[in-house]
Amino acid sequence: MELIDTHCHLTFDDLACDIDGVVARSRRAGVTGWVTVGTDPQHNQKAVELAQNFENMYAAVAIHPHDAKTVTAPTIAQIKELAQNEKVVAIGETGLDYHYNHSLHHDQTRVFIEHLKIAADFNLPVIIHCRKAFDETIQILEEHAGTVKKVVFHCFSGSAEQAKIVLDNGFYISFTGVVTFKNAEKTRRAADVVPLDRLMVETDCPYMSPEPMRKQKVNEPALMVHTAKCLAELKRMDLADFSRQITATSRAFFALPPA
Ligand SMILES: [Zn+2]
Ligand SMILES: [Zn+2]
Repeated sequence: MELIDTHCHLTFDDLACDIDGVVARSRRAGVTGWVTVGTDPQHNQKAVELAQNFENMYAAVAIHPHDAKTVTAPTIAQIKELAQNEKVVAIGETGLDYHYNHSLHHDQTRVFIEHLKIAADFNLPVIIHCRKAFDETIQILEEHAGTVKKVVFHCFSGSAEQAKIVLDNGFYISFTGVVTFKNAEKTRRAADVVPLDRLMVETDCPYMSPEPMRKQKVNEPALMVHTAKCLAELKRMDLADFSRQITATSRAFFALPPA
């Protein structure tokens, strides 16, 4: 089995402090590829460096909507520079977070649009972070993502109806361990409507360990197998077949070389 963790934060302290162990456990579990996602200038730089050190590890770079208020011209220049690195396979995570509101909506929108421009210019897909801002996010994408090749809504927490809107726009949907939670019936119903050629799986680690490992405080890529199992059962498929199909989807989305 070969799975790709399409959204993890391996540069965050809890994982970075034992990166060799994290990667070894992941490989043993069958999770043999990773897209580590930067969230600020420091983590963007680290994500690219880390990806250069490991086979089948790639990076995404952007400023998280939480930090949109900090974005200046040099921040954007750094993203453009890193975007040219051969290990950078996406711009993200970017979008709107109207749950925490750590940055003003105005700043989040400005930075989101700026990221979409970079993605279009460098011909890279975009990883969307969207929380309590679904309609606004779709509207910005409809207005500004015209030339962006591919778009994925990561850590999808919307309804089946919202999933259909995402799919109708030609976008992709990625699920975390949240889909395994007992109270996540809505998320499972959303997963039900997503075909495998538009579906990806991620940990978003160090956050959100899946059941039955939810008590493990620091999530890591090895645990993504539980999320994949849950989704395979939902799709009434065996895990190997499910994994083969979503790994092909992930490879195509990020334009990764064959393993
Ligand atoms: Zn996110
Ligand atoms: Zn994330």
